[in-house]
Amino acid sequence: MADHQHFSQQRPHMRKASRATAQSPSSGHPQHRAATQPAGTRPAAAPHTRPAQRTSTRRSALPIVASVLILLVFAGAGFGIYTLVRSILGSSDDAPATSQNSNVIIEDAASAGPGDIVIGLNGDEDTYVLVGEDYLEAGAHATEPVDGLLNSQIEISGEVDTSKPGDYTVTYTVDDSQGHTATAERRVHVVDEMDTMEGGMPILMYHYVYADDAPPEDLNSNYIAASAFEEQLQYLTEHNFYFPSYPEIKAFIEGTHSLPANSIALTFDDGEYGFLSVGIPLLEKYQVPATSFIICVNADARQQVIDHRSPYVSFQSHGFDLHKPGGSIGHGGVISALSKDEIVADLKQAQEVLGTTEAFAYPFGDVTDDAREAVDEAGILCAFTTENGWAHVGDDTRSLPRVRMNGGTSLEGFIGSIS
Ligand SMILES: [Zn+2]
Repeated sequence: MADHQHFSQQRPHMRKASRATAQSPSSGHPQHRAATQPAGTRPAAAPHTRPAQRTSTRRSALPIVASVLILLVFAGAGFGIYTLVRSILGSSDDAPATSQNSNVIIEDAASAGPGDIVIGLNGDEDTYVLVGEDYLEAGAHATEPVDGLLNSQIEISGEVDTSKPGDYTVTYTVDDSQGHTATAERRVHVVDEMDTMEGGMPILMYHYVYADDAPPEDLNSNYIAASAFEEQLQYLTEHNFYFPSYPEIKAFIEGTHSLPANSIALTFDDGEYGFLSVGIPLLEKYQVPATSFIICVNADARQQVIDHRSPYVSFQSHGFDLHKPGGSIGHGGVISALSKDEIVADLKQAQEVLGTTEAFAYPFGDVTDDAREAVDEAGILCAFTTENGWAHVGDDTRSLPRVRMNGGTSLEGFIGSIS
């Protein structure tokens, strides 16, 4: 290469004010659900460059032209499952499965009307790929109040030539049944060199978030105060962390894909109200993508996903009806009492509720060989336990550890756990 300009430019710090713009055919005025994220609130970060130091992971694979114009098909999207089964919710993944807390009642947080499509990318909207490696399409998620989940109707267009350094754009477009359209864009930076993650990456496991002036009665280490969480988000954005998608994480763990230095993923178990109402607005303020693992047997699981839809939150599976006791290993979650086929059926039921297939968090962290095989059969890319630690290259992507986030941890402790 004549120069390293494609690499030496900074990653853009000023993300667009929104990821999505929806057009209403009747008024012609853009809908602004996504555009209402505070613009310019992303802290002005110190210039971050990725010095051209490291090339050992470069491969000489044949250049790959990823020409994409595909219609994503997520299993079961578009079907609502509203069960009236009263489930055992609210017990955290630390507690024995026999300890049941009260049900979490999710109040309606949405005031949006028809045509208010929210579309967001899976993973980082600035994707980095080394020349010669694959661009791994991570897709997007979209929701509209009347139609519900629109994931299966997102069209992806654009070309990424990973044989040539440069900046490419991939566009995600979705229409609702009334003719509203929303789009989102991913900027793909093909670089000939970059600093990369070595050996592993931290995937953070959070549970609950609470407003500082309204701590929960049963305050424990699974709860993090909004102010502490915000400090962490501020740190991540100021230091220009990269938020890979599940296809990228899977390939990285399997040793076939490079990730930029400072890669990290944020996950939140249980879809708890404090996370939905306090945590998600903070993710939006800092424009940090995260995953919310939803207990899908909850009667309002599908509605939660619709009401709390966000460009920055991917709702993934915490199982359909696996978040309850009945097993004999670990925390006693029911999964160890189920056959592989029973687990597959449960996982597929959850996928129908969510319209997604990418990730799964084992309730209580309990995992068996049958469960790992079920994860494969259900087409899940990455599954997570509650084991504490970084995910390392070579680990089993069907049972990856995560870094436990405790509410009482200082910012220094947080930094230490992800460095
Ligand atoms: Zn859980």
